[in-house]
Amino acid sequence: MNRHAIVIGGSLAGLCAARALSRFFEHVTVLERDALPVDTRCRRGVPQARHVHALLARGRTELEQLLPGFTARLREAGALEHDMARDFAVLRPYGWAPREESGIPSLFASRELVEATVRGMLAEHSNVSFEDRSDVAGLRVDPYGSGRITGVVLENGARDVFADLVVDASGARSPAPRWLREAGLAVPEETRVDSFCSYSTRWYEAPPPEERPDGWWWKGIWIDPRPGCEKRAAVLFPAEGGRWIVTLVGLARMPPPTTEAGFAEALGRLPSPLIAQAVDLAKPVSPVYGSRSTVNRLRHYERVRWPLQGFLALGDAVCSFNPLYGQGMTAAAVCARILERQLELLAPGHPELSVRFFQAQSDFMSGPWRLATSADFRFAETEGQRPAFSEWRTRYMDALIAASGDDPALRAVIAEVVHMLCPPERLFAADVVVRVLRQHMRRRLGGMPPFAAAAAAAPRLAAR
Ligand SMILES: Cc1cc2nc3c(=O)[nH]c(=O)nc-3n(C[C@H](O)[C@H](O)[C@H](O)COP(=O)(O)OP(=O)(O)OC[C@H]3O[C@@H](n4cnc5c(N)ncnc54)[C@H](O)[C@@H]3O)c2cc1C
Repeated sequence: MNRHAIVIGGSLAGLCAARALSRFFEHVTVLERDALPVDTRCRRGVPQARHVHALLARGRTELEQLLPGFTARLREAGALEHDMARDFAVLRPYGWAPREESGIPSLFASRELVEATVRGMLAEHSNVSFEDRSDVAGLRVDPYGSGRITGVVLENGARDVFADLVVDASGARSPAPRWLREAGLAVPEETRVDSFCSYSTRWYEAPPPEERPDGWWWKGIWIDPRPGCEKRAAVLFPAEGGRWIVTLVGLARMPPPTTEAGFAEALGRLPSPLIAQAVDLAKPVSPVYGSRSTVNRLRHYERVRWPLQGFLALGDAVCSFNPLYGQGMTAAAVCARILERQLELLAPGHPELSVRFFQAQSDFMSGPWRLATSADFRFAETEGQRPAFSEWRTRYMDALIAASGDDPALRAVIAEVVHMLCPPERLFAADVVVRVLRQHMRRRLGGMPPFAAAAAAAPRLAAR
């Protein structure tokens, strides 16, 4: 049988889904509204690509599983590889993090380069085709009343495309719930948690190594907000082409400036001047871009009472996170692998495919969702449905982070959870709780303030 699958949206989730589907369907068509660039240009449908994008270790592994050779290809295209714990100057609430080998090397590249690399590798699969400038306007439903989705309608009803399976990967603003309602089908409930966080980003040409002052060892900088200070954080990430991406984050209704002067001034008011000093030596190569697309939004397809047939959704179209925690691309890759697994277990035409996939996806998503939304509820301004025990979790997380300043084992556990290498529950395991308590007892008995730690010396730039 010649089976055909359609993927709506040719961004990261859509590309990963298409790769998973290509193993089980004779043909996979990716329908993308934008004109797909031949290079790494930013396109309209993915405006967030202008902002810093961290690829977590789990995401890298899953992409490597989907597309063997992914890391090598991204590196060949210019991505850099660093161990953040060793190569970044990281200012935590307790002070500068000690420099150490974490054993979790990360890839640093623009979001455009990651997408272009994945797209290029996918295009090598002869049963996958891309139809760009194809704006999907609705779903085709079986005219005989079975409720089965049988394809999509392109903009203005110009053309119908029929398929055995339609996968929605059209991003956080996915119109699929509206399309399902219009077709008289079950619509997923939606949970939102908004901590009113915003991003401002500017790109720079990094100064060449010979022009950098003495004492400059770091490849990137990470500045957490300090308790009691302005609710601002910032990062400086390296990217291909000798560039830096500097993103300033405003937390809890504190949007960072999007003017050039305001951006520079706000960098100077961070808990450390290190990023401001670094960009003074660099050449700006972009305007300042802003984004307020940071709400956590979860569409509960796993709860729809009337199982959808012939339709799946994944990526931001199902769950988008506050990007502060860098989970989106990784979650998209993991969910594509979940789809691959379900197809292995059930085969493409199985009537329970969507029910089983949505349930498995939801089981996985609950971890990153809890992590992001619990962390967001540390701000009084956050609105939405509070996860269970979030106040208790916030207090415990503060204690854990403070204790980690003096305990490499705790730093290792945090890194594994942040990189999705183990589930968030690991942070609450007995051995971790005991270490946290032990550190706090030690501090109390030693008469040290709760945030004092054996922090590293502050990195400084010597005058040139
Ligand atoms: C400011 C910001 C910073 C972020 N930082 C990180 C980070 O550090 N790390 C990380 O992992 N993630 C981050 N993310 C999230 C990450 O960008 C997404 O999770 C990731 O790109 C996967 O998204 P997606 O493919 O599901 O959707 P999107 O990337 O939004 O793509 C949706 C695609 O569907 C297309 N489309 C939409 N409607 C239609 C239609 N009707 N017909 C045809 N095509 C359509 C669009 O043109 C687009 O190509 C960040 C997000 C934001 C907003």
